[in-house]
Amino acid sequence: STRPASSRYQCTTIATALQEARNLLEGLSETPKLDAEVLLARVLNRDRSHLRAWPERTLSPDEFDRFHELMLQRQSGTPVAYLFGEKEFWSRTFKVRPDVLIPRPETELLVDLALTAMTASQTADILDLGTGSGAIAITIAAECPFARITATDLSPEALKVAQENADRLGVRNVRFQPGNWFDAVASDGRFDLIVSNPPYVADDDPHLSRGDVRFEPSLALKGGLHGLDALRIIARDARDHLNPHGQLILEHGFDQANAVADLLEVFGYTEIRHHQDLQGHFRVTTA
Ligand code: GLN
Repeated sequence: STRPASSRYQCTTIATALQEARNLLEGLSETPKLDAEVLLARVLNRDRSHLRAWPERTLSPDEFDRFHELMLQRQSGTPVAYLFGEKEFWSRTFKVRPDVLIPRPETELLVDLALTAMTASQTADILDLGTGSGAIAITIAAECPFARITATDLSPEALKVAQENADRLGVRNVRFQPGNWFDAVASDGRFDLIVSNPPYVADDDPHLSRGDVRFEPSLALKGGLHGLDALRIIARDARDHLNPHGQLILEHGFDQANAVADLLEVFGYTEIRHHQDLQGHFRVTTA
């Protein structure tokens, strides 16, 4: 073998590896046990039940090294989704890289509202601004094969990830267009539904310097002094791109609902409604 004599590998079992990993991550991750299990299962190419069934199985030196490397990266804060390269959203698996925000469960509320709006009105033309991994646009496209979807992003790297996701999931009814908000859209482009999960965190929010979010692109997170810069631009310009009776659906911060309603009123929207996420926060506003 070519293994260096200094290697820490000593016939480590699954149980021992998990215990050591949990100790390593304690206090650094909110879910040390889960992180260790999903990452070890990944290295072993098995699901988590295998770990429980075979606690005495020893890891090969290669498995040990790969797991150890992942644990060190996790210890330094890299989100599990980036280590995996994947994240579940609306029961589909999306590729993620540090070029894109990791899809969040609360964003499923936005998708839910979009799908509801569509069944109610047979909506066909949809715009997703700042698509990132493509989670929103591709989910809507997959659930509604008759819809025609345009998805934009300022970041070419993000659009690459989104296109890969569309290809992998066999979705053909999304067109990806680069550009900053409505600059990516033809001036006479009109949509029945415009959706966005824009950056909405205030630039100096301490949340940005803690935990997993530090590894995510600030382009997808930072929304200016009060976090409202992108929301304001979108609210202003979406008016010129909505069909009559069209709907705008915006995700925003848990404490921004009133500010977003004010913006929407200023720009002349009606039927402004807030919607609660699973944690009870008004996280999405429709108008
Ligand atoms: N919900 C994300 C967070 O709090 C922010 C997402 C966004 O800015 N669109 O980390």
